[in-house]
Amino acid sequence: MSESYDIIEHQHDVVVVGAGGSGLRATRGLADAGLKTACVTKVFPTRSHTVAAQGGIASALGNMGEDDWRWHAYDTVKGGDWLGDQDAIEYLTKEAIPAIIELEHDGVPFSRTEDGRIYQRPFGGMTTHFGKGNAQRTCAAADRTGHALLHTLYQQSLKARAEFFIEYFAIDLLMTEDGECKGVLAWDLQGGKLHRFRAHQVILATGGYGRAYFSCTSAHTCTGDGIGMALRAGLPLQDPEFVQFHPTGIYGAGCLITEGARGEGGYLTNSEGERFMERYAPNAKDLASRDVVSRAETVEINEGRGVGEKQDHMLLHLEHLGPEVLQERLPGITETARIFSGVDATKEPIPVLPTVHYNMGGIPTNAFGEVVTLKDGDPESVVPGLMAVGETGCVSVHGANRLGSNSLLDLVVFGRAAAHRCEEIVPKGKMHKADTRASEEKALDRFDRLRHADGGTPTAELRDSLQASMQKYAAVFRKDDMLAEGVEQIGKEVESFANVSVTDRSMTWNSDLVETMELENLLGCAICTMHGAANRKESRGAHAHEDYTERDDENWMKHTLTWHNSGETDVRIEYRPVHMNPMTDEMEHIPPKERVY
Ligand code: FAD
Repeated sequence: MSESYDIIEHQHDVVVVGAGGSGLRATRGLADAGLKTACVTKVFPTRSHTVAAQGGIASALGNMGEDDWRWHAYDTVKGGDWLGDQDAIEYLTKEAIPAIIELEHDGVPFSRTEDGRIYQRPFGGMTTHFGKGNAQRTCAAADRTGHALLHTLYQQSLKARAEFFIEYFAIDLLMTEDGECKGVLAWDLQGGKLHRFRAHQVILATGGYGRAYFSCTSAHTCTGDGIGMALRAGLPLQDPEFVQFHPTGIYGAGCLITEGARGEGGYLTNSEGERFMERYAPNAKDLASRDVVSRAETVEINEGRGVGEKQDHMLLHLEHLGPEVLQERLPGITETARIFSGVDATKEPIPVLPTVHYNMGGIPTNAFGEVVTLKDGDPESVVPGLMAVGETGCVSVHGANRLGSNSLLDLVVFGRAAAHRCEEIVPKGKMHKADTRASEEKALDRFDRLRHADGGTPTAELRDSLQASMQKYAAVFRKDDMLAEGVEQIGKEVESFANVSVTDRSMTWNSDLVETMELENLLGCAICTMHGAANRKESRGAHAHEDYTERDDENWMKHTLTWHNSGETDVRIEYRPVHMNPMTDEMEHIPPKERVY
């Protein structure tokens, strides 16, 4: 029986959970459309993880040479190793153009060309003429694009009179008995009260779950909270086995050196001083897609050509670019290299290694951001009242591997699409009558149980163990026997959560309890990832399987759907077809072929 809690009631047309790039883009669009909008966020909006995005945002504007959104679509399909849905990819790449122009008009301070247009840089896997030339497609605000984006969208949201609930931690979704989402229960970390947010649509925009791993470029807040909430509401997580490793995380620190650094002419070498990417990707070389470069580095290290005392990393060279170019185009990188590896990037190479960076998987949605699930045999069945955007969602535009600069694009295109959809389907000011008492009771019980958890395992100890397991068993290269061990190990960690201990019982600034709820969310994401990986008997994109080294389109060109109930060691797995057809006849279907760079 849970302690009784006073709950403060709020009523909005739409509630957005998360104030990163995707949440703010949705919030700005909703408020601008006159919908009564709340944005609930556990950190201050401009401290959201998106602030760290460096390199830029893709859009076929053609400011620095010829370009076409169809070439961008081709690159995205190929980059995702034919697991991306081609209808959603058409929407992403076509809508990229108006979405970026809107951002410019909103005030994003993009870097400029001599003649005043938005500056665009080359990025991995971005080509012209369907793979024949190299595109300059990535719009950048120096190497602080995410920072510029967040500040602009936050200001625009305030101007449009969105209401922000800052340092409020969303605990669980409020669902009706027949599976409709009608709000969210949140905890005001400063005020110490619980809040019930009623809404006709809830948009989950809580980011990825990079923190399931030991070494990652993600902020400490990337704990898959939205996905945890969806799993507890009986909804699936799609394609979790596809976890992107970025080839240039700083050795020892995990912080990112943007791919934009290689876009500006940076290159990698091994212990023999060889530019090894010329062997792995003769055309694209250092600008091959991230999974290809990360695997090449791992092979070099495993074959004894790693750098340093332990021969366990590679070197990224920027020194030949000269201090002026570095200062103008990559100022943040020079600073990051100095602080985190003690290297002056204008004079010496930066030590790097593959580091977890992005979750291609997420809550499955259609191209309007609406969450879909498998119901009565239909995998496209819309969950009324619930949307997911950004890294939390899986639309799926990134398929098995995301191209650099396509995530920021995903945030703004689908944040915008979700706002447009709400404008169509949410009546302004409609009364809130739905009965969500049962799900609220469940959420309160969970909150109270965790608040008083008095087991023997500290949260930090269990989190360390989980992160080590994910790093070891669901790594750049995977093998059947390792994945089987991983499944067993993660199962034990999920079970251990029943014995977690929370020592702080207070209702204000209780980081012990916050981290414990985050850990439960991470565990759900992690167990689905491990099971999804163990089940997929092929190699595709970021899922490189040493026992099944080829892509198998006949049997595995399908999305994984995983369901997990808290505390259980089992994961239910089903599959749904990839959408192979574009949305309109403006784009041609891109048939699968071998992915070489
Ligand atoms: P986030 O920015 O992670 O925001 C999540 C929001 O949800 C936050 O506001 C948080 O407070 C809130 N939240 C989470 N849980 C809760 C909860 N329980 N209750 C309330 N609020 C909650 N992509 C590119 O395209 N180009 C780049 O140049 C690029 N550079 C990158 C550099 C780095 C170092 C990293 C790690 C990633 C980079 N990416 C880049 C990827 C991209 O930045 C992310 O995928 C993207 O920012 C995710 O945005 P989001 O809106 O989904 O979530």
